[in-house]
Order: sequence, then structure tokens, then C-alpha cells
Amino acid sequence: MRSSEKTPARRFVTVQRRWHGALVCLVVIAWIAAAPGTAAGFGTIDSGGQHREHERITRAALACDDEVGRDADCFAPRSLDYLAGHDREFGAVGAPDSDELSDPAAHCDDADFLAGGYPRSRDEATAGLLACVTRMRERFSAAVDAAGRLVDERGALLPGEVETGTECRAVEQKEERAKCTVLEMFGRALHGAQDFYAHSNWADEADPTRPIGDENPPGLDLPAPSAVLDLRSGTAPSLPADLTTGCFEVRDEVPGVGSCAGRVTHAALNKDRGLVDPVTGEVSGPTTPRGMVGGNFEKAVDAARDETSRQWRDLRSELVTRYGADRGELMGCALTHDDPVGDCRAGGWSGVGIALAAGVVVGIGLVTAAVLLRRRRGGRPRADS
Ligand SMILES: [Zn+2]
Repeated sequence: MRSSEKTPARRFVTVQRRWHGALVCLVVIAWIAAAPGTAAGFGTIDSGGQHREHERITRAALACDDEVGRDADCFAPRSLDYLAGHDREFGAVGAPDSDELSDPAAHCDDADFLAGGYPRSRDEATAGLLACVTRMRERFSAAVDAAGRLVDERGALLPGEVETGTECRAVEQKEERAKCTVLEMFGRALHGAQDFYAHSNWADEADPTRPIGDENPPGLDLPAPSAVLDLRSGTAPSLPADLTTGCFEVRDEVPGVGSCAGRVTHAALNKDRGLVDPVTGEVSGPTTPRGMVGGNFEKAVDAARDETSRQWRDLRSELVTRYGADRGELMGCALTHDDPVGDCRAGGWSGVGIALAAGVVVGIGLVTAAVLLRRRRGGRPRADS
């Protein structure tokens, strides 16, 4: 009997395997379809109740109003498209929703605690949050490392490393351009920083009409940016005693079930969903229970936007600390501009800057010439007098 011929028993095994394979596929599809609506934090897609909250917060924080100036405090359109995501593209800030969806450290989940007879200790909750902070610090530091590849040994931009004429792919898809890697790592750090405010009680308030408990934990109503998210620091941040995020599992419910029984759940605490204006950052229509209490959704979004701006400032200043002022500022320019080779020069002179300086020189020359001409005419006796 040739090995390819099947006995009834082998055929049964094959059929069973097919069924098993199909079942696994269905479960995976169902999990992928269901999970972004629950675990992910602020939304990345435009369905299942999500409204691309991560993209819109990132745009509200970092998009240039109109003209891109010579400095690097805002992002030009194409560079921002990759950082924030667009259309069906997750972008760098959405990347953890594609490959770290079930990892609590990528979304600051599972750092839950409530004072007085709680199933988990304060230390366990603190460890959960520090895992999230550590993940962000690793990404932030990877971004700073990768920036070293933007320039050559003399400090000049390397065109092949900074051009993004074709859109960046993920590092996993063999993307090798340094600018793409820096933006991906920075975007992943931003994701966690934004989720921190959507998933914790740092900036929100409890429902005043219900008793405090695991279904309604206290809100801390604290400002952003938070000292907890100092990603340049190497020491563990100190946390408020009542800081909590939510326990997450696939059945994300209030009250918690399974491993989340008796605990503050993601479902009870998250402020993930609602509309965010990508230009002004103004919010409307929150849809989660905690997000609908008072101004909680607005507080979470405002905090995430301010935190996003702070993280970009911190990354720029870390580039200067690591690589020196000239190179660090040039790197910031290259990351934010769509034509870095044309727009960015060592020492900070961009094409716009040079054009402005040239305009000023020409203007002074014209005024001087006009004054001299007038004096000469004024000094000469007029023929008709
Ligand atoms: Zn998330």
C-alpha cells in the first residue's frame, strides 16, 4: 500500500483534522473580530464602536497646522500618516493592536487594585503597571537607538534612511529604513502612554451616584502629563496608592468573571470609545459607562493628547542628549519632515529658513539702494529751481 492511500481510520483522522483546523480558524477569526473592541484601549479601526481614537489623538497632538516650519515641533502629512495611521493602515501608534493585542503590558491592563479586602495586593498591581511602563521605556529607547542610523559618521543625513516616498512598513515586514524604525518604536510607546489614561483612573472621576467598589473604583482626577510616564528615567516611578487599571480577559464584563471575578475590570473602567476631532482634539459621544460619567472621556483624551506632545518633546531632547545639539536637532527635523534631505540641514537651517534669510538680505539691499539713490538725488541741485 502506498503511503498516500488512506485507510478508513486515517481518512477519519484527516476529516477530524480538517474539522479541527476549521474550528481553530473560526475561533481565531472570532477572537480577532471581538478583541479589538475590548482589549485594545483607545480604538484603532473604524468599526465595532471604535473611531480610530489613537490616530485622531495623535493627529490632534502632533499635526502641523499648515506650513511645516524649520523646527520639529510638528509632523508633516506623510510622516504623520505613518506615525498616526490613516484609512485602513494602523500606523505606528496602532501597531500594538496588530501584534500585542493580548499582552496586558502593551495596553496597561491588569494593574487593578482597590483598598480594603481586594483579591490582589497593591504590590501585584504596581508590578502590572511597571511592566507597562518598562515596555514603553524599551520602545522609547529603541527609537533613540535607531535614530543613530539617520546620519553618517560626519553627521550628514543618509538619504536612504530618511526618505519615505514609499510608505513605511512594519519592522516585522523587513522594513529597514531608520526613520521608519524610529517612528514605529516611538508610536508603540505612544500607544501605551495613551492607553494609560483610557484604562486607568489617573485622570477620571468615579460615578458620584453609586457606591465606591470594584464596579465603581475611585477616580484620581490627576493632571497630565504624568510623572509615571517619564520614559527617559531609569528608576521606578512612585504610584498613588489608589491608582488602578482594569483586569482584562476575553469575557470582559461588569462584575468581573473568571480570573477577573471580584476585581475592577477593563469593562468597568475604560474610557476607550467616542469621537475625537483630529484637528482640535474636541470630543463628543462617549459610549463606555465610565467614559460617560461627567467629563471622563474628555479628560482621558485631553490627557492622552498632552502626554503625546510631551513624549515627542522628550524624544527630541533625548536625541540631543545622546547625539549632541547639531545631530539631535537634525534628527528631529528628519523625523518630522517629508523631504528631510531638502528641508533639513545640520545646524538647523531648513530650506524655508534659507529662503527667509535670503529674502531678508535681498530686502535690506533694496532698501539701502533706495535710500542711497534718494540721497544722491536730494544732494544734487534741481534743474528747475
Ligand atoms: Zn491598546
